[in-house]
Amino acid sequence: MRVLLQFPEGLKQKALEIAEELEKKGDKVFLSASACYGACDIAFGQAEAVHADKIVHYGHARFPIPRGRKIAVEFLEWRSDADLEPVLGMALGDADFRKCKKIGLVTTVQHIGQMSAVRRFLEASGKKALVGRHGPLAKYDGQILGCDPGSATSIDGKVDCILYFGGGLFHPIAAAIACKRRVLAADPFSGRILWLDGEKKKYEKRKMGMLALGLQARRFGILVSTKPGQLNLRAAEALKRRLEAAGKEAAILVADRLEPEALENFHSFDFFVNTACPRIAVDDYAQFGKPVLNLAEAVELASLLGKRK
Ligand code: SF4
Repeated sequence: MRVLLQFPEGLKQKALEIAEELEKKGDKVFLSASACYGACDIAFGQAEAVHADKIVHYGHARFPIPRGRKIAVEFLEWRSDADLEPVLGMALGDADFRKCKKIGLVTTVQHIGQMSAVRRFLEASGKKALVGRHGPLAKYDGQILGCDPGSATSIDGKVDCILYFGGGLFHPIAAAIACKRRVLAADPFSGRILWLDGEKKKYEKRKMGMLALGLQARRFGILVSTKPGQLNLRAAEALKRRLEAAGKEAAILVADRLEPEALENFHSFDFFVNTACPRIAVDDYAQFGKPVLNLAEAVELASLLGKRK
């Protein structure tokens, strides 16, 4: 069988070893060399180009792929065995966390296998731990994605705070933005815990600033990614119509990967709307050199513009 293997950045060092094992079993193996940050990003184009029968996507959980693709995709998850006890101990020592009796637990797929152990750890300390129902893009209860914090929002009204365990801040910031309850991130790799109130406030302040700029902007570039799990063309077209009805000019800009350098020569636009991965307006906005809002906020902007007309 001809197989294209796709690895997220953190697992690319294992690619050769895995490729050699599969070749010994008789497969013809190709390695995707593109950057890969999520299960939304399945390399169908590359697989077609090398006539692969199948894509094996490592490191992420199954993600809903639009129908009609001819090449099969197998998701092989990867699980972390990072020691969580030091950061959980830090959380239990935090004055604000101590006041919370009911804790909502969320994490990424890499740590989902540690959910029961974290629950037991907290319950042994007198807490009640709740795991929320996953959203439409995640596979497991308790799992969150930057584009799907459903496991957090589903328990937001039932807990005193939410505890995220896992690496990085992108996922817990998405939960903090979407939830009313405070979110504490416990990162076993940095060995730090952090309440995300400050990050959430910064995001909300920036969003208000962007909405104000959006009201003044004249020409909008609506960014659409062709990555299978990020393609949001219908929403982009609907937004274009709404902006135009509000007297603005708008065009849809299409790319596989939305890179600031590739967009900088589009001087005509004074505002970008991102319909792809929300990381663009949460983490990477400063690289775009122009105001940029994610789709949900841009829909708010379109409503404000509609009311002003
Ligand atoms: S769209 Fe972004 S947040 Fe969602 S799965 Fe892809 S990389 Fe992750």
